[in-house]
Amino acid sequence: MKRYGPPDALVSPRFAGIATFLRLPFCADPAGVDVAVVGLPFDTGATFRVGSRFGPRAVREGSLALRPAYNPSQRVAVFEELSVVDAGDAPVVPGATQPSLDAMRAALAPWHAAGVTPLGLGGDHTVLLAELRAAAAVRGPLALLAFDAHADAWDAYFGERYTHGTVVRRAVEEGLIDAHRSTLMGMRGGLYGAGDYDEARDLGLTIVPWDDLAQLGTGVVSQAIETAQGPAFLSFDIDFVDPAFAPGTGTPECGGPTSAQALALLRACRGLDIAAADVVEVLPDLDPSHITATLAATVAYEILTLIACRPKAAGAIGEVGSPGTSGRPEASGRDGAP
Ligand code: MN
Ligand code: MN
Repeated sequence: MKRYGPPDALVSPRFAGIATFLRLPFCADPAGVDVAVVGLPFDTGATFRVGSRFGPRAVREGSLALRPAYNPSQRVAVFEELSVVDAGDAPVVPGATQPSLDAMRAALAPWHAAGVTPLGLGGDHTVLLAELRAAAAVRGPLALLAFDAHADAWDAYFGERYTHGTVVRRAVEEGLIDAHRSTLMGMRGGLYGAGDYDEARDLGLTIVPWDDLAQLGTGVVSQAIETAQGPAFLSFDIDFVDPAFAPGTGTPECGGPTSAQALALLRACRGLDIAAADVVEVLPDLDPSHITATLAATVAYEILTLIACRPKAAGAIGEVGSPGTSGRPEASGRDGAP
């Protein structure tokens, strides 16, 4: 079986080569792949500053700083557990939301059908709807775990129902996520009305504002994993992090977590059954020193690590780190492929 991973950084230095994510092989064939990194360069759904269509490119460039072979925080040799490729970018139609959602969903569907876990790089958060449509078609309704300064659960923005601020409500309405299994963490900043969070909670979603998350810490994440019960989508909007640490984003909200706090909360997602995931809302034009792109790449790498240590499919044996196990889900339908 083919295996895909990054080149040895002590043979080919990290600044050399073509800037795919982690310099992984570019590959469009799902055979032998566990995780496919897919760029989603769409920002027509953004309601404030635009430019996250260049996010995937920036995150790939930012990923060159990483040393990905071993993650000491989770004690995982990620690419001994997972075969990972960069599948390039999904097609989009600039300025046209519905055709873009269709095109991105269609690009992601074959990966899900082959049992591969897509890791999306946004793009504004509208891309989540395409990702969830592709995932739910194969996996059924998912739990959504999101780190975000915003709940993205408004009904409409300027009369538009398909924007980065409304996708969570659309996902509930379309039955793509099970609201009662879903937790959104990190909300802060001003609202349009006193009842905004209550309206989101009325959908069944658990909303944990940053002020509460800051007090309660990783226990909230443990609770969210327990509530998720089954396949989940893990979504990380980079504006979850304080703009002092992640200035390159379209709708910054001050007073959020440091990058260290955010990474600790993300690492606490170990044990989540991740069916798909993304990192979104990176806006490189506002990103001096590539600080946001480097953080977003780190977040994507931590998510890869979480995928490497997600619970095994029924019938599989062994835990990540124990010798003689591949760490790959056995129910993927891919293992019989030539
Ligand atoms: Mn968002
Ligand atoms: Mn946000």
